[in-house]
Amino acid sequence: MSLFKNQPLKIYNSITKTKELFVPVTEGSVGMYVCGPTVYSNVHLGNVRTFMSFDMVFRYLNHLEYKVRYVRNITDAGHMEDDADEGEDKIAKKARIEKIEPMEVVQRYTLDFHGILEKLNNLPPSIEPTATGHIIEQIEIIKDIVAKGLAYEINGSVYFDVLKYNETKEYGVLSGRKIEDAVHNTRLLDGQSEKKNPQDFALWKKASPQHIMRWSSPWGVGFPGWHLECTAMSTKYLGEKFDIHGGGMDLKFPHHECEIAQAEACNGQSPVNFWMHANMLTLNGQKMSKSTRNNILPGEIFSGENKVLSKPFSPSVVRFFMMQAHYRSILDFSSEALEASEKGYNKLVEALKTLESVQVSQTSSFVVQDWENDCYSAMNDDFNTPILIANLFEAVKHINLLKDGKATLTQIDLDLFTKTLHAFVYDVLGLVTETTEQSSDKLEGVVNMLINMRKQARDNKDWAMSDHIRDELKALGIQLKDNKEGTTFIVE
Ligand SMILES: [Zn+2]
Repeated sequence: MSLFKNQPLKIYNSITKTKELFVPVTEGSVGMYVCGPTVYSNVHLGNVRTFMSFDMVFRYLNHLEYKVRYVRNITDAGHMEDDADEGEDKIAKKARIEKIEPMEVVQRYTLDFHGILEKLNNLPPSIEPTATGHIIEQIEIIKDIVAKGLAYEINGSVYFDVLKYNETKEYGVLSGRKIEDAVHNTRLLDGQSEKKNPQDFALWKKASPQHIMRWSSPWGVGFPGWHLECTAMSTKYLGEKFDIHGGGMDLKFPHHECEIAQAEACNGQSPVNFWMHANMLTLNGQKMSKSTRNNILPGEIFSGENKVLSKPFSPSVVRFFMMQAHYRSILDFSSEALEASEKGYNKLVEALKTLESVQVSQTSSFVVQDWENDCYSAMNDDFNTPILIANLFEAVKHINLLKDGKATLTQIDLDLFTKTLHAFVYDVLGLVTETTEQSSDKLEGVVNMLINMRKQARDNKDWAMSDHIRDELKALGIQLKDNKEGTTFIVE
């Protein structure tokens, strides 16, 4: 029997503002969509927190033995500088400034994004579609919404008619905004907007002659509005009704509100059962901002190259630190807080090592099952990772008592204890206990020692020994390369 059948999971639904029992559309399967990054600059630490939160959700759903399809998009076109559908396309602007192709910008920052998330041990999503790869799907949706009378074309652009939509449906259902406050065009007052109403938002924008990223459409040459891609890609890969839609808190309005309106307009139903929003990250108690220099790049945390930090921190410590806060709470990032997390994390790692060598007994002095239930209860309560971690520290206490002979466990209980602990630490929280890092350091040391021995052999004209070392390493998949500066190696 699949694990999820015994684990009633409750998720806080942003649209109803309550914790609800999670029941998927299709039993045993979960469709989850998370708004991905706009790849025009290095990934922001706040966004990293959002993606890590949903990585944890993905991991826990997998752990519960759901079949999860996790879709996270890459926005590589259509995201304008402001939410009012005005200004320059963020990617095109960067391309213009750096005098490179927009797709070079996209490639550079997609690689940066993937690199950082991988370092932090985030699992890749099941599908990672791009906006530019789904222009046809987006055009089809616009045609549909226009045909239903809920969008209008003007001067080669198409806008969603929010007031018309609001006659039969409710716009603002997620953000709780009143229709009169849901204004999308700050420039309306100067009379420059071509929209019928300031609440309307762009589905398609006419491209000016200098706009590089452009496609043909029934309304002329242009590009899609930002909100549309998520409707196109979530519908395509997860269907008209799917289980979970996630993103950062800042996306509730207008982005997610517009997604709901678009999907309701073309499919006649609300697209998502559970809306989940991750809270923001502050730095030393203040909003992160490039202009005030209260800012840090994720890569700088690992290298320690930022004044904000006293020293570098490993990706696992950063991950542990973020998991110590609930995803819906504001998390404040500071050097002191990371140092405290590092201590806690080291204690946990130490305990996991100790556990490998504890002796079994005939009786158990504590009930492992109760502890295991507490771990599940924490996660089933809207993914409460701080409570889960508190339970992991309970386990650390038990391990230390076991080590000192002040507690006992039978073989069966010890196996359950170890299995559960490993599942939550490695599979659910996604922590890595740095052993891989340590062993690669050791490997480097050993190979360098052999390289030195081979050099000595060559200096002594002992060619047989020199070749032997090279061939044996090659057989292990380690290739030596001799060059002017000496010998280097590649692990295949
Ligand atoms: Zn989105």
